Amino acid sequence: MNSNGKFRSLIMRYRKWLLLILVAILLWTSIVLFLTEDYRQKRASYLNAELESFESKVYTTLRMYETFSEYVFRTAVSRDEVMTLLERAVRGDDRDRDNVRQELYRLLQDDYALMTEYDFRQLHFHRPNGDSFLRFHAPEQYGDNLFSVRETVRLANEEKRYVFGFEEGRIFNGYRFVYPLIRGEEHLGTVEVSVSLGSLMTVMGGLYPEVDLTFVIDEGVVRSTVFDDNQDNYAPAPFFPGFLLDLAIEEDRHLSGGCRLSVLDSGLIRNTVAEHRGRIDDWESFNTIVEEEQQQYLMNFLAIENISGQPVAYLVGINEIDGANIFTEGGLFRDLVLVTLLVLMLVVSTLIYDVKQKQLKRMATTDKLTGLYNRHRMVDLLEREVERHQRYGSPASVIMLDLDHFKDVNDRFGHSTGDRVLKETGLVLRETVRRQDAVARWGGEEFLILLPETGLQEAGAVANRLRQAMEEHPFFDETPVTASFGVATIADGGEGGWEAMVHKSDENLYRSKQNGRNQVTL
Ligand code: GH3
Ligand code: MG
Ligand code: MG
Repeated sequence: MNSNGKFRSLIMRYRKWLLLILVAILLWTSIVLFLTEDYRQKRASYLNAELESFESKVYTTLRMYETFSEYVFRTAVSRDEVMTLLERAVRGDDRDRDNVRQELYRLLQDDYALMTEYDFRQLHFHRPNGDSFLRFHAPEQYGDNLFSVRETVRLANEEKRYVFGFEEGRIFNGYRFVYPLIRGEEHLGTVEVSVSLGSLMTVMGGLYPEVDLTFVIDEGVVRSTVFDDNQDNYAPAPFFPGFLLDLAIEEDRHLSGGCRLSVLDSGLIRNTVAEHRGRIDDWESFNTIVEEEQQQYLMNFLAIENISGQPVAYLVGINEIDGANIFTEGGLFRDLVLVTLLVLMLVVSTLIYDVKQKQLKRMATTDKLTGLYNRHRMVDLLEREVERHQRYGSPASVIMLDLDHFKDVNDRFGHSTGDRVLKETGLVLRETVRRQDAVARWGGEEFLILLPETGLQEAGAVANRLRQAMEEHPFFDETPVTASFGVATIADGGEGGWEAMVHKSDENLYRSKQNGRNQVTL
């Protein structure tokens, strides 16, 4: 047999097991794929929902401030006295404007004080040409033109409409609510009420105490917009390269007891920022789950756009998550290990079952002592052979043999030596006949051999070979062990069935014994 043939016969021999392993691999792969995909989808939709929820928390809080700022505008700013003063400022000269500024400051300073108690940071009047007119938070700083750095102020004045949005300013950054000031047909400039991110974060902290917030702003934006004198309102964020912390916010955070979580100090946020650098460079809003010391955290990174739609800052929200284990890789890993074990168990138990099954079958069909077929199995084979003969006319013969004077062997050497002789007889018989011939232990020391596709003469020749082989086999040093043989073939048409054939061989065997043993009778 060439190696190809050997390989093929090896496959044929183990094809059931190969099939089992194939099925197991397919099963395992599909479950793993399903679990991984399911995990991926669940995690993605969870993260999505969380990011949306974070975003809506921020914008709901902003909406609240917007409503409040509108209230301030309607009650404090849109008053007749204020509008009259502003009319004077527009129509008069610089001197008139200086007077108006002082009067306006006096008129509204109580309102401004009250606003600051509600965390508003600015009340700021601008002239129609974009010059700063009066900053309540820095009344001595005015006259600088804002159009080039403050898009909200430019839009509100040029288009005479209400403008709202986040904006970095000369001094502070924050959410700006800028209202046009119009009396009759006359445009008197704009007024801005603004709330700092710090205030926003304080309110959010009250509403959602489980979320820790951090605000960072793009360093380039601050460097190019903020007054030189006010640059020190900002400091580099150690965990967020390229971004600055708003120190006023950090001070608030300190006063309110600092960041509740230790993640800011732990380097967790620094690692997360580093890991997602690409998304940050693309100004993506995103979130992720990170784990430290068995505790999982959800980190939301919300990109804050300015009024021109340009992202300039990040609001980072961090909260602990529990019971979300299904979204962690640990959970997935545990499931995968479980599935792997289950599939392995399935394979092993099937293999064990298969081996056991074969063992049982062998036990039911073989003789324990010699390993030959037992009588029960031989009857099956005989029945099948007679059927084959009846259908196809194929010949078949049997040889029955019985050891000669076996009682003497037992008597002289003992029963266990007798057993050894029986075992060796089995080997001699197997070695001497063809592979397709069936050899069975028919009774105590009687054997029956079924020879398919074999006529009487041919079977007789085989019996003689067997007789000789037995005689020559060195069972003992001195004493030879011989056997007597009876041969028979299936009657034409299978008449009398296998019983008739076996009976005939038995008769012939008896004749061999009668004639002196150690011979063959056909
Ligand atoms: P014969 O030539 O006429 O056949 O003489 P024999 O001594 O072989 O006589 P018989 O066939 O009547 O005796 C069979 C003996 O085989 C009887 C029994 O003790 C022995 N025998 C049967 N089965 C076993 C077995 O499993 N092991 C052993 N050791 N002996 C067995
Ligand atoms: Mg005998
Ligand atoms: Mg006998």
